[in-house]
Amino acid sequence: MTSELSKISNLPLVESQLSPENQVKIRTEIETETNHLLMKMSATTETKFASVYGPVVSWRYGISLGIDPIGPVSTCSFNCAYCQLGEIEVKTKQRQLFIPTEQILADLQPFAPWDVDVITLSGSGEPTLALNLGEILSLVKSLTQRPTLVLTNATLLGNAAVRQELSNADMVSVKLDAVTPEQLRRVDKPVAGIDLPDILAGIAQFRTGYQGQLGIQTMILAEWDAQGLGEYIQVMQSLSPDEIQINVPKRPKPLKRELEGRGNHAEPSAISYPVRVLKCVSSAYLAEFAQEVTRSTGIPVRYR
Ligand code: SF4
Repeated sequence: MTSELSKISNLPLVESQLSPENQVKIRTEIETETNHLLMKMSATTETKFASVYGPVVSWRYGISLGIDPIGPVSTCSFNCAYCQLGEIEVKTKQRQLFIPTEQILADLQPFAPWDVDVITLSGSGEPTLALNLGEILSLVKSLTQRPTLVLTNATLLGNAAVRQELSNADMVSVKLDAVTPEQLRRVDKPVAGIDLPDILAGIAQFRTGYQGQLGIQTMILAEWDAQGLGEYIQVMQSLSPDEIQINVPKRPKPLKRELEGRGNHAEPSAISYPVRVLKCVSSAYLAEFAQEVTRSTGIPVRYR
């Protein structure tokens, strides 16, 4: 396996000699190959994993019981600069079955009678990558009779099957951290083949057919210029979510993958594993940003 990894790490050396089209192709091949190797490595590593965790207190949704449909290996189509999971281990936009629905339902049983405000699909990566997303949502709802919520990065909303499955959720919170391709690349670091126009088109398509409550969540890492804020306001006016949620990276970033990171809302000083605390914009700037968005869109904005 070591020799296979060294072959992959040598590929970028020749990448600069290729056409842009072939660079994308080779980057995709590197990602796919790396993902396969990580999968093989994780299969040989014994990890204690439970697909239900918490409850945790969410600043947006109250007391939330978490469901992790992804599993012990963090897997996402983004690798956000601020991700509370640390560096994402498997970066992919391919959907697959990670955790069987029966296992999730069995893991939910000890939490009965589910005295929480919401049951949230999030966990160790992007929940819409799970092929059993729709099945999980409808069976969890039948079993618990609690409102369901999905936190998604919106990268798969261009897929009609994903939109249809996601519409089983009572609430959906969609991440949108960028209004320019450069901002998307810097903040969210998507896998090859994901771009901002597709993300925006996917959210708009989902918005059109969705009957539940739609929130747009935006993480602010640094102050935005006036043009960026203006574009953001236009996007919000056009998407017209029920609520906008603006926040700063209060949860520290683990230096390596920690399963606990998926639901850890503790203060950095109370966290037992090594983390990096991220710099935040001032509370005054955040309040100013939020007030301008509220004033210009008329959409309720929550921020912290
Ligand atoms: S979308 Fe969520 S899980 Fe994926 S990298 Fe970003 S913060 Fe982490």
